[in-house]
Parts: sequence; C-alpha cells; structure tokens
Amino acid sequence: MNTIVETKEFQTEIRQLLDIVIHSLYTEREIFLRELISNAADAMEKERYTQLTGPEVKDKDLPLEIRIDTDDTARTLTITDTGIGMTKEELVENLGTIAHSGSKEFIKHLSAKGDQKDLNLIGQFGVGFYSAFLVADKVTVYTRSYQMEGESLVWESDGVGSYTIAEGEELSRGTKIVLHLKEDAYDYAKAETIQRVIKQYSSFVPYPIIVDGQKVNTVEALWTKNKNEITDEGYDEFYKFIANAYDEPLFRLHFSSDAPININTLLFVPKENIEQFGFGRTEPGVNLYCKKILIQEKSPDILPEWLRFLRGVIDSEELPLNISRETMQDNALVSKLSKVVTSRFLKFLDEQATSEPEKYKEFWEKFNFFIKEGAANDFIHRKEIVKLLQFESSMTLSGESVSLADYVSRMKEDQTAIYYVNGPTREGIESGPYLEVFREKGYEVIYTYAAIDDYIFGSLGEFEGKKLISADQNDLDLGNDEPKDRNELALSEEEVKVLTDWLKEVLGSKVTEVRESKRLVDSPAVVLSPYGTNSMQRMMQLMNKDLNNIGPSVLEINASHQMIKRLDEARKNEDPFAKIAAEQIFENAQIAAGLIIDPRGMVKRLNEILERALG
Ligand code: ADP
Ligand code: MG
Repeated sequence: MNTIVETKEFQTEIRQLLDIVIHSLYTEREIFLRELISNAADAMEKERYTQLTGPEVKDKDLPLEIRIDTDDTARTLTITDTGIGMTKEELVENLGTIAHSGSKEFIKHLSAKGDQKDLNLIGQFGVGFYSAFLVADKVTVYTRSYQMEGESLVWESDGVGSYTIAEGEELSRGTKIVLHLKEDAYDYAKAETIQRVIKQYSSFVPYPIIVDGQKVNTVEALWTKNKNEITDEGYDEFYKFIANAYDEPLFRLHFSSDAPININTLLFVPKENIEQFGFGRTEPGVNLYCKKILIQEKSPDILPEWLRFLRGVIDSEELPLNISRETMQDNALVSKLSKVVTSRFLKFLDEQATSEPEKYKEFWEKFNFFIKEGAANDFIHRKEIVKLLQFESSMTLSGESVSLADYVSRMKEDQTAIYYVNGPTREGIESGPYLEVFREKGYEVIYTYAAIDDYIFGSLGEFEGKKLISADQNDLDLGNDEPKDRNELALSEEEVKVLTDWLKEVLGSKVTEVRESKRLVDSPAVVLSPYGTNSMQRMMQLMNKDLNNIGPSVLEINASHQMIKRLDEARKNEDPFAKIAAEQIFENAQIAAGLIIDPRGMVKRLNEILERALG
C-alpha cells in the first residue's frame, strides 16, 4: 500500500485559534465532546438526506449511530460516526481553513482579549472541531466519504502549525476521531465522565450514542412532543444542542397547528446578541424539517432575514423532501410557512411585552436592532412589528420606554399627531430648541436616537390613523397662528420684517428663508430644513460627504428673546459686530440641529466675540 504522507500548514487564523485552545486554562473544556458529537450528528443528518434524495452511497446499510469508546490504558477517546465522511478536498477545506468571515472575527477577538469565557462560543462560529485540542495533544481523524469513488484517509495533527494527510487502510463510510488525551485530561478516558458530559450537553442528539457498547441517549424529536411532556430543563438542553450554546435561552416558543398549514415549531431567542459583540452578521439558525427529517440546516429561506437571531426548528409534513434551494425561494408553501411562523412569533413577543415586562426589556435592549430592521424592510409584517417598537420620550425617564400604542393612549385631547425628534442623546435633545413648543403644550415627544428610527417613522407616515411628525418639521402646524409669547416686550411686526430681511441678506445662500418663529420659547433661534426635516438633511450631507456643502436652512427667530432684540439694536446702530453675531446665532442653531458644520471658520469668529465680551 502506498503511504504518501502530505504535510500541510493550517491557515493563519486557525494557527492562532489552536494556539489559544492549546494554552488555555479553560475550565469548561468538556464542551469539546459536545462539538465533536454535534459534528457527527450533522454528518449523519446529511447522510440520511443524501440517502433519501441522492445517488448511490457507500455502505447503505450501516446504521446511523455514534459510537464512543474509551481506553483507560492507552488514554484515548474515540468517536465514530457513520455520516457522510470527507473526501481529501473536503478534509483540507474543513479541517484546515476557515470559510466564514464571522469565524475570523471571532478568532481575532479571542486573540486580542484572551478572554476565557468566549471559548464557549466556539461552536457558534464554525470552528468547533478545534476544541478537540482542549483535551488532546494529538488528534487523528480517519474518514471515508459516502461517495462511491472516495478514498480512506487519515488526518493527523498535534495542533501546532501543521497537519498531515495520508491514505489509510480501507474503511467503512463515516468518520472516526481518536483523541490522544493530555495528561491532565485522562479523566475523559473514563466511561462515567463521558456519560455525564453527554447527559449535560447532548441528550437531544437525534441519533443513538453508544458509549463502550451501551446506548446512553433516548432519541427523540422534542418539537413533535406534547408541551406538557417536556420540562424546562428538557427545553434548555435541546436549545444548547441545536444552538451550540452554553447558556439558557431568553425566550422559547413551542407551537403546533394544523390549519392553515401543518406545522410544528420550536423557536428560541438566545440570551445574547452576538452581532452586538461585533462578530459580523449572525447567520440564520432555524432548521427546516419534514416529518423529523432535516431538509435545510440553518435555513436562510424559511424566515425573513431580520429574524436571523432565532434558533430552533420548523417542521411541516407538507414540505416536499427534495425541495431545492432554488425552489425554496419561490415556493408558495414556504412563504406561507414563513408568514404563519413570523406572525405567531410577533404575537408571542407582543404578549411577552405585557406578561414579562422585565424580560421583554432585556430582549429589547439586546435585540431591538433586528426588530427595527424588520420594521424598516419587511412590508408583509410591518404592521405587527411596529407594535413592538419601544422608545424613550419626553415623558419617560432615561432607560424607560414607551410603545406607540402607549403614546397614543395618553395623547392630549387637542393633540392630533404623534411627534418625534431625533438627537444623539437625551441630554442633546432636551437642551435643544425643538422641544420647547411641545413642552408648553404638554405634548409628549418620542426621542429617536438612531437614524433607522427616523427612517421607519418617515416611511410609516402614520400609526393608528395618527400622523407621525418630526418635531423639526419645516412646516410644523400645531394650530397656533400667533408666535409664542408675543407680548409688548417683543419686537414689533415691522421691526421683525426689517430684521429678517437683513438677516437674509447677511446669511445669503446659507438660508432659503428667515422668519419669525411660532415654536420658540427659550431659544433665540432655530434652523429647519427646507427639505422637510433636519435628519433628512443630515442624511443627505452624509451621502454627499461634503462638509462645506451643508445645504441651505430655514432660519426662525424668537422675537421676544433678549439676544434677538439686542441684535436688532446693533443692526440699527450699524455696529459691524451685528453681522458677526448674526452668523454665530445661525451656526449655533445649526449645531443644535445636529448638522455637521466645518468648525474652522467658526474659531476666528468666536475669538472676536470673546475679545469683545472680555472687554
Ligand atoms: P461547523 O460544524 O460549525 O461547520 P466545525 O469546526 O465543528 O465547524 O467543523 C468544520 C467542518 O468539518 C464541518 O462543517 C464539516 O464539514 C467537517 N466535519 C467535522 N466533523 C465531521 C464529521 N464527523 N464528519 C464529516 N464532516 C465533518
Ligand atoms: Mg461543528
């Protein structure tokens, strides 16, 4: 027999990962077993599917099961499956390189922080196999692909830099992994230890697991069982198995129905949003089954993209077994399933918001971005999604929030619309000029801190028949025709006319209009966007990437404000300082609007103002 041994280098990122894994003093290292069993189970799901739909396979009659053998004397642990196995290309591809950018980012993060706890996430980032090196100083993988013309191969590595691949003795279909245990991991060569770990992590593997000849798990598809036959622990363990998770889920939803479509669903919301950690985009995690047979793992098609944070199973008898990725995307049944499950999940969240407010709050803090993405993009479910949105407002405390329905229920009698204002922070919004008139009227104003919020409101237009209006809307109509607080102290209408004309001349093309304000109480001036709202203008500015081209504004002045009155006096006296003050008042208002202006021009002017102020 020819035994050509090829030596290959691990990809850089894998070398880094292995370096961390080998040297980690990680205490929960038993997760390696969960990872290897999960890989074995995946390989057998693929084998089962191939047998049902595909071509001729090697060793068709081999039972689909996982055998684990301990050897106390040789200090080895062997995990054997009868799954699809790997060809030589697949070995190199799967156990030597990284396919997902998410995995790379995860490894980068691990290297930077050396944070031990994160190793728990290893399975969720597509690099679970390498956890074998938590307990082994040498790993040997024997594998034979299901393809008739495949070869019997041996992969081996000590986890330092490189691995070897050679052709080996003829094997039956599947993969056998031999772990040569580290001295301090000899415990894993004992059947009791292995049985305990399997109970903890892998009770729900849908294939028999046989430890030293004894079957240790009961195979069952949890989602097809009756709810009252399942314990909380049972659900949690199942979640840990399908999500490769180490912690409990935040929410779970288990439901079955026969109409309008047969469906068995078990969904989980994880405790953490890993997208928030900056590991790139979360990949979808709901598996699609037909009568307990896996049709599509981590299906990207069954649920809308914004639900990619969900983990779980959707099983429907009505799905054709051999449905392909292409037919999946425009299959009427699949879109019906998607709609039913999405609506049911949204209803569930809506219920949780009332029945479990604390938990819902936690959910909202971590996952709100996904829900907002849905509200912005998913026109089919938008109505249901919008109900879930929560915002801080002028009537909540910081960190508390209000839904649109809450808002509407406590609107003032004379109030006809829902108002919102955008700003970077609560303080930023509350010290700005836009809230003043609403405060006076006692109207609640929603604070939107993210651009996506404004986008959602802008495209929604209304909620329950009430218009959604931005508080910095140029043509805001609050039904008050008289300028605020117009009293004997204010400039007269004629004076205002002369002053606004003069301001228009001084500011030139930077303004489209200067007028007296109906909305100001405490601030001297405010800018509004001729395009509608300032956030629209900010967005345009960001897209143009041109700091000097901010676009013109509408300037409104408060005719009762001391500063405006003094400005008018300076103008009357033909004091050259009047121009400087006018420009500064205008730019201050732009800053309060969150418009990004080039600060360099302002410094010179501010120095002139300071010089004068300091006498
Ligand atoms: P993941 O399981 O998330 O893809 P892993 O690092 O656990 O990441 O495994 C990498 C790949 O190696 C798997 O996707 C699979 O293609 C292959 N693999 C691992 N173990 C087996 C096995 N027992 N049988 C067949 N292929 C396997
Ligand atoms: Mg894996």
